Amino acid sequence: ETHEQLQQMRGNIRVLCRIRPLADAASEEAAATMPMPGLIRLRSCQKNRRTLDFEYNCCFAGDATQEEIFREISPLIMSFADGYNACIFAYGQTGSGKTFTMQGPKANPGVAPMALRLLFDQAKRSEEAGTEKWIEVSFLEVYNETVRDLLSPSPSKLLDICTLGPHQLGPNADRVPGLTKKHVASVGDVESLIAVGSRNRATTAHSMNEHSSRSHAVLSVRYFDVEGGETHAPVLHLVDLAGSERIAKSEVKGIHLKEAQAINKSLSALGDVIASLQQRQKHVPYRNSKLTQLLQDSLAGNSKVMMVCNISPEESSVSETASSLNFAKRAN
Ligand code: ADP
Ligand code: MG
Repeated sequence: ETHEQLQQMRGNIRVLCRIRPLADAASEEAAATMPMPGLIRLRSCQKNRRTLDFEYNCCFAGDATQEEIFREISPLIMSFADGYNACIFAYGQTGSGKTFTMQGPKANPGVAPMALRLLFDQAKRSEEAGTEKWIEVSFLEVYNETVRDLLSPSPSKLLDICTLGPHQLGPNADRVPGLTKKHVASVGDVESLIAVGSRNRATTAHSMNEHSSRSHAVLSVRYFDVEGGETHAPVLHLVDLAGSERIAKSEVKGIHLKEAQAINKSLSALGDVIASLQQRQKHVPYRNSKLTQLLQDSLAGNSKVMMVCNISPEESSVSETASSLNFAKRAN
């Protein structure tokens, strides 16, 4: 079959693989490379030089710019502005570039700020043409199978997720009742909210980095559109997932073991949901984790989904990289 035919047979999920640059290019050679477009090659060991090849539609090497990545993502954002639910999530081990890709440094913005800039432009254009549009965001984290509202005045309060199916819930209903929603009018507004949310995220953790690698951060955008007296509000989830690394049994005990189990549970549930959507199975197992319950409205049906698989090129990461690439294969 051609690629297009295959796409029609499968679900709406696309995969983008991005290899980050080597942290120390002067003293090391990359073990994960892109020898040609659409191919990621993994050198499994320096001595026997065995290689593993993985094919994806859309691959980027370490020299790719944030703009090049966003060029692949902007059609999904345009579909969202046209009324489709959408979800973009970054998967990969800690240090592979998830936050760089989704958020990016202020001077080199990533997917979330660029997506919002595009949405504000679209909203302005529609308003000039006479339709009313507005944008609201919320920001939450899923940690140890609990949901925390990062924009709430009391961010330690835990929230519930409504477990109705996507069709029973209704189009504009809230998946997380009580979640704080903020009206935003500029990328600056969103950046301030992310800063507030990130501070709330850190308050309970000994180390911000450690905490962010063990929880899923979900920035959700609603694009309100009033037409003929009817309000339509598709949702876009921008998800910076917890690190996918398998935490060695010897390293974890007590609370850390619980964290590791919660991450495993939610990431494997996400993999199962994606695989069953891609195979167009009737039953999709959303209920197996908080993460999949939360994201279900923008994974199901006509939703547009992009999985970004972030890759560390270092030799020391080869086994984690192979496991990330295999995860991505389930969606490809
Ligand atoms: P993660 O969120 O997956 O733990 P980060 O996004 O924090 O990983 O990236 C780890 C480090 O690598 C950071 O210092 C980040 O700035 C850097 N980095 C990641 N991706 C890139 C890239 N494409 N170009 C330059 N630096 C990057
Ligand atoms: Mg991160």
